[in-house]
Amino acid sequence: MLLLPERVEDYVGADNPVRFVDAFVDGMDLQSAGFTRVQAEVTGRPGYHPADLLKLYIYGYLNRVRSSRRLEVECYRNIEVIWLLRHLKPDFKTIADFRRDNRAAFKQVFREFVVLCRKLDLFGRELLAVDGTRIKAVNAKDKNFTKTGLTKAIKEADERLDAYLKQMDESDSIDKASRSGDHGSDGGGDVADKDEKLKAKQDRHKSLLKQMHETGESQISLNDPDSRYQSGKVKAGVCYNAQIAVDCKHKLIVEQDVCTQVGDLGLLAKTPEPARALLDVETIDVVADRGYFKIEDIEACEAANIIPHVPKPQRGPAVREGFFAKDAFRYDAEADHYICPEDQRLSPLYKSKSRDNIKIDYCNRAACRACDLRPRCTKTFRRVSRLENEAVLDRMAERLVARPELMDDRRNSVEHPFGTIKQWMNQGAFLMRWLENVRAEFSRTTLAYNIRRALTLVGVTGLMAALQA
Ligand code: SF4
Repeated sequence: MLLLPERVEDYVGADNPVRFVDAFVDGMDLQSAGFTRVQAEVTGRPGYHPADLLKLYIYGYLNRVRSSRRLEVECYRNIEVIWLLRHLKPDFKTIADFRRDNRAAFKQVFREFVVLCRKLDLFGRELLAVDGTRIKAVNAKDKNFTKTGLTKAIKEADERLDAYLKQMDESDSIDKASRSGDHGSDGGGDVADKDEKLKAKQDRHKSLLKQMHETGESQISLNDPDSRYQSGKVKAGVCYNAQIAVDCKHKLIVEQDVCTQVGDLGLLAKTPEPARALLDVETIDVVADRGYFKIEDIEACEAANIIPHVPKPQRGPAVREGFFAKDAFRYDAEADHYICPEDQRLSPLYKSKSRDNIKIDYCNRAACRACDLRPRCTKTFRRVSRLENEAVLDRMAERLVARPELMDDRRNSVEHPFGTIKQWMNQGAFLMRWLENVRAEFSRTTLAYNIRRALTLVGVTGLMAALQA
């Protein structure tokens, strides 16, 4: 005999996170967040209210259920969902349509929760760690084409077509000989078949290459046209670039975005700028890895009251050849010269334009000629280049020297969200295609991460109290 409680309410305890999801969505102004159908049409039957479907999605992402079909199933068998939706049972099409029609609004939901966490004083509001990760798109590797890959494939197909032609010629002559000697054919038809297929494939590749030249794109993805082939330290794939800005106090995500850019260069200010506004602070420190090092971005950050801390990557011809890196040369701003490892002065000699900047080369030919360190420094005489606006990098280098612990803080702060999202939440691949859909998906993922984190920090009671404050 089973003596189950008679009310659904009795299954959902006071500290059940589903109660927070319910109260959080009920407290939101969905119309101004951008959700459609908040007011039912005057004519016809009223549809599902967006609040119910939003609750379902937040609950689903919190519990690793993301697909519309699986969410539909949960509406029938999951007592928490039955409580949350008050026995409503939308079908998967309704659930999926809601997701498609409101994709721009999910970011606002994410931001509403950030504001709630700010009320709870869960942000340090002093240091943001910025990082990006590649998240797999709905596009297989063999459905992605780059210019280099296509050119190579077309060339290889030409070579194979030549080989088939030769093979067919040989098979023709064997045929002739066999007819006279009464032997069978050796299957020249197979080769002709392969030849046809290869030609068709090559034509497809040629038309894709033509399309790339016409549009100026460097890649084409067939299943999800917005996704890009990106290679990383461990493996490569067709992915999106997901960026986050994490507050270092409790590793909560303050801002996030997804883009199609390969690599992080140029994205330093992308998430910290809105994050600073959300945290409502005048200035904020930002730490990122070497992949973000770009003088224009560092200048832009300083102009936007964001204090960047990005270590300088060791690159350039001198480093490649094993000579002293530029760090070994000290710049004297007052005298405008560099002091080299041999304590010699390198003075400004040449000025040139480098992209949008003016580049000045410093050198001292006479000193290099007589220098014992020359084999470790240069082949002829050493030039050290400096951009006209490089003072911004000097300021940043001084800040990094003063706070060496920042790089550890960065790693500890950004690895937690990415690790949790990919491993624990099992969201290392997107379910949706197209950039706008993927952005909405990542907003739901990061919202779920933040809710989980806040639940660990203050519990359901703390979150409920903040809602009522
Ligand atoms: S080679 Fe020239 S720049 Fe290099 S350490 Fe010697 S003097 Fe200085």
